[in-house]
Amino acid sequence: MANTKYVFVTGGVSSSLGKGIIAASLAKLLQARGYRVTIQKLDPYINVDPGTLNPYEHGECYVTDDGAETDLDLGHYERFLNTSTSQANNVTTGRIYQSVIEKERRGEFLGKTVQVVPHITNEIKERIQILGKSGDYDIVITEIGGTVGDIESLPYIEAVRQLKWELGDTNALVIHLTLIPYLSAAGELKTKPTQHSVKTLMESGIKADILVCRTEHELSEDLRRKLALFCNVRQEAVIQSIDASTIYDVPNLMLEEGLDAVVLKQLVLRDDNVPNLDKWNDFLKRHKNPKCEVTIGLIGKYVELQDSYKSILEAFIHAGAENEVKVNVESIHSEYIDDKTIANKIAHLDGVLVAPGFGERGIEGKIKAVQFARENKLPFFGICLGMQMAVIEYSRNVLGLKDACSVEVDENTTNPVISLMEEQKNITDMGGTMRLGAWDCELADDSKVSEAYGASLIAERHRHRYEYNDQYKEQLEKAGLRTTGTNPKTGLVEIVEIPEHPWFVGVQYHPEYKSTVANPHPLFVAFIKAAVEYSNCKKDAKVAQGS
Ligand code: GLN
Repeated sequence: MANTKYVFVTGGVSSSLGKGIIAASLAKLLQARGYRVTIQKLDPYINVDPGTLNPYEHGECYVTDDGAETDLDLGHYERFLNTSTSQANNVTTGRIYQSVIEKERRGEFLGKTVQVVPHITNEIKERIQILGKSGDYDIVITEIGGTVGDIESLPYIEAVRQLKWELGDTNALVIHLTLIPYLSAAGELKTKPTQHSVKTLMESGIKADILVCRTEHELSEDLRRKLALFCNVRQEAVIQSIDASTIYDVPNLMLEEGLDAVVLKQLVLRDDNVPNLDKWNDFLKRHKNPKCEVTIGLIGKYVELQDSYKSILEAFIHAGAENEVKVNVESIHSEYIDDKTIANKIAHLDGVLVAPGFGERGIEGKIKAVQFARENKLPFFGICLGMQMAVIEYSRNVLGLKDACSVEVDENTTNPVISLMEEQKNITDMGGTMRLGAWDCELADDSKVSEAYGASLIAERHRHRYEYNDQYKEQLEKAGLRTTGTNPKTGLVEIVEIPEHPWFVGVQYHPEYKSTVANPHPLFVAFIKAAVEYSNCKKDAKVAQGS
């Protein structure tokens, strides 16, 4: 589409400056002015997608409706914009090369020597323009992963240079996100690293149009002038991005700094339409003024790295704001939960969430946590592996099937209550072969979930190989573990609940991926509500005891 405008976001000086949050915040402001915006992330690593990466390497693997396993930044985009992303929104070097090599094998290059320039760069340019050409967007924001100067991001930088030249300065611009370090010994903010990184970008033929400067301290007018002069940008295009207490403050901070206005001016787009952030600010008000607090235990095995459970943590923030409570999340390593430690680690909590995961490590601790929550009527939420652990726990401790297990953990168990789906049995490739993306689920009447969703048919995103084994359904139901969600086409069990328990829900899918600021996920909202009720009962009991 000729009229789609492109904004590229590059990073300099240091990694982890939050390009994703800046891109999402700019997109939010443009959306709030009525523009149709999407964001794309280009990742310079060779994995075809992050699905094969350990969460310790790269944080959570985010999943879209169309079943793409993607970078966690796409989660920020969806949470900020409340619109769906897809496979086209995340492209890696692996995917680019895979597609070029497949074309070469099909003979599509007609005998030419296939090279980084132009073949790889052309493929990158095509991938960037796919979203623009769909006609669905006025503005496409493309975030280039990594830091300028990295060997692996060179083809991306060259593709951006070419596109900018082809599209012209009023149709494409580059935002460079950089760091202004503060030297406490000198009491000074330093601009030199930024000057160098802008120069590195320039060596590749790209002039940064806008500088977004991460800083711990306010940038003075003098410093802004200096940055503008030495980095060759207009002074109004030097944007301060000061450390914020929450990522959800960043759109307002960018609005104050005029980032959206500078972008619109350069792209020659209307800028008299004031951004409407009313709903966003309502959320912020509730988030910042909680009436009480609850503590939830997040039981997982990747707890050392916060990014491993990014979407779950964000879903708690949305659900907390909705309930006007502060949700404190205590990360608990499942490997360290055993009979001796369990009470110490869990008894003080107001709710337990058993996290998704893969493999054998930490499984028994998760099962113990489920048992504790079930027996003590502590609100319980099991997600994916967490739901599978709930089924195992119930089979072992209520049905009495002592060796009940998942075949993922014990291939030879005589009671495989969680087993491999038929279509998964012959799979040898690990990448992109799980049950992925959005699947329908029918909810049972009079269940906690149908009450929470206020619907009878939902669609939620999946990422797993193993399933609740239907052969145990009758026994489990009779013993009190009710199936309250089923895939209408395949009959696969998606949700289990214990009706006798105040709030005990296990879901085979990942509700956290669909929680956004505008639409907090109904199950997280209901879980936090149950945790508040539990916490109030605890307080009442203490008062009663004291009196
Ligand atoms: N490892 C389990 C499976 O593959 C659960 C996956 C998950 O929690 N995402 O079925």
